[in-house]
Amino acid sequence: MVLAERLAQDLTALGFLALGAAMAWEWYRLRGKAQGRLAVALISLAIVAAIGRVPEFVSVSGGAATVVGVVTIFAFEASAYYVLLFRDAFLPLSPRARQAARILLGATLVVGLAEVTVLSNAGRIVTTAAAFELILAWVVFAGEPIVRFWLASRSLPSVQKARMRALSFGFAGLIAILVFDVFGGNAVQSPTVTIVTQLIALAMVPIIYVSFAPPAMLRGLWRMKEATELRAAIQDLLIFSPTRQDLADKAVGWAKRLLGAQGAFIVDSEGTIVARSGIDDADVIEIVAARKGAAEGGIEEPLPGRGAAIVTPLHLTEGLGFLGVTAGPFTPLFGSDEVNQLKGYASSVNAGLERARVTERLAAIEANKTQFLNLASHELRGPLTVIRGYVSMLQDGLLGTLNERGSKAVPVISTKVLEMNTLIEQMIEAARLEDGALMLRPEANDLRELVKAAVNSATPVLDGQRKVRVKCPERPVRVRVDGERVKTIVANLVSNAIKYSPEGGPVEVDVVNRGGIARVSVKDHGVGIAKDDLPILFTRFGRVSTPETDHLPGTGLGLYLGRQLARLHGGEITVDSDPGRGSTFTLHLPAAEMTNAGSGRSANLRPQAARVGTQDGPVTRGGDG
Ligand code: ADP
Repeated sequence: MVLAERLAQDLTALGFLALGAAMAWEWYRLRGKAQGRLAVALISLAIVAAIGRVPEFVSVSGGAATVVGVVTIFAFEASAYYVLLFRDAFLPLSPRARQAARILLGATLVVGLAEVTVLSNAGRIVTTAAAFELILAWVVFAGEPIVRFWLASRSLPSVQKARMRALSFGFAGLIAILVFDVFGGNAVQSPTVTIVTQLIALAMVPIIYVSFAPPAMLRGLWRMKEATELRAAIQDLLIFSPTRQDLADKAVGWAKRLLGAQGAFIVDSEGTIVARSGIDDADVIEIVAARKGAAEGGIEEPLPGRGAAIVTPLHLTEGLGFLGVTAGPFTPLFGSDEVNQLKGYASSVNAGLERARVTERLAAIEANKTQFLNLASHELRGPLTVIRGYVSMLQDGLLGTLNERGSKAVPVISTKVLEMNTLIEQMIEAARLEDGALMLRPEANDLRELVKAAVNSATPVLDGQRKVRVKCPERPVRVRVDGERVKTIVANLVSNAIKYSPEGGPVEVDVVNRGGIARVSVKDHGVGIAKDDLPILFTRFGRVSTPETDHLPGTGLGLYLGRQLARLHGGEITVDSDPGRGSTFTLHLPAAEMTNAGSGRSANLRPQAARVGTQDGPVTRGGDG
């Protein structure tokens, strides 16, 4: 039994010596402040364990015993005090707590010195009290960080969490043994109990070891728990991030989680830091510069004062960028599996960044188009007004009598000027719509009147041969709409019906009021539209290109505006077409309630499409461009 007891004690001492040596090596590799402090703590623990075994091999007495006693007590207190300093390196203590710790340490060292010198012959109560103080200080120094680490670990990525918990658990085990040694009473003397406590202490060695140097396999295992959640989150990030910047910011956050890293960064081909987290600008620049242009990703050896880093290339359209992660006190190790993992992640980030770039460019192009619409239309309106004035003066003979050729030219000029005017008005309206500056002026209207006026305004451009038949109910069709806008919508449908029936054929306009919905359908017997072409009709500048219609003038804005305006009214435009036989376009509008016909409220057909619905019905707010 005595042999077993000695063996257990020797093994434990050896275990702690090995632990101290491993941590010393780790510190030598990394030279970080935090690693240094943990190294002092663990080496001190190794000294305590080793010195405890010395009397078994050589007899120590007199002055030597005092020296051994002092060293033991100092090393013992240092082993806990440096755990507190380790915590302070990355979870800083408050200045007051730091001060209090120093005072406690000073007092404890004094007590320790007294214990092995002047108090060695004092009474039992005094020596027990002194020993009690020494152990209490140790428990305070080591206990506070243990609790802090445990709490802080809750919000950390799985690898860092596991490592922090391992450290907490290891030291908690040692505290438990110490406390048991003090309060265990007689049981402590029993060889069996000694063996058990020694083995428990020994078991703490690998647990503490994995906290600062976990093998790759263990890191992989810890990460696995998070893998599914991570994959889903990364997918979200790559698909839904609205901008490149947003994506980059989130990507560095996930890179840290994925690898359990301390910091992460993305730099673009110019070396500009696009996003970073947990690392400062200077370190990013240093790490990227240290690569000396080598394109392949790999592990950057740790430099004194800074942990290891992995940097992997991003193949961006504008050139080679980099995604990197760096190690911290709880991530001092990267291995080949981390490199592979980062490479895989980098290719996803790469694709995401490229996608976001394309989206951003498209948005910029769209914005440019709107800006162009706005500018061009407003710049054109002024001169055209002047031209219109002169044309009408020419027509009225106010500028003198024209010769025969002149008289023939004026109506052509007038028609073309009208076409230009329509185009410019459409452009202005489209620009307003996109700027959110389009304001409706809804009023009580009889849809029959609006339709008749619209048909009339569309007919002057007719060749006079064509018939536009309008069929309306006998009773008024009450709608609460912006009359001018509805007339524009209907006039465009009618002029399209005529324009896209080059062979002629009647155009039938029907107004019906049924089920709370007022409808205006415009039916022609013209070229019709192929099913595949239907989706582009209502897009901005969307025109169907066919041999029969290519020569016809048009902007592709009429239906786009028509549908948008209809939707702002809580309505819709639909189309039904048969290629070669004709089309029917229908404008749907909410009918006003009959009970209050004069200023009736409208039901909204497409509540989700209307931009703004006020109490008086759907209205868009804003200035009228
Ligand atoms: P525009 O007539 O000025 O080109 P619109 O936005 O009014 O612009 O119409 C978009 C496209 O839809 C037209 O270019 C044409 O190809 C098609 N289209 C519109 N109305 C009809 C119709 N009644 N019959 C056949 N095609 C039509």
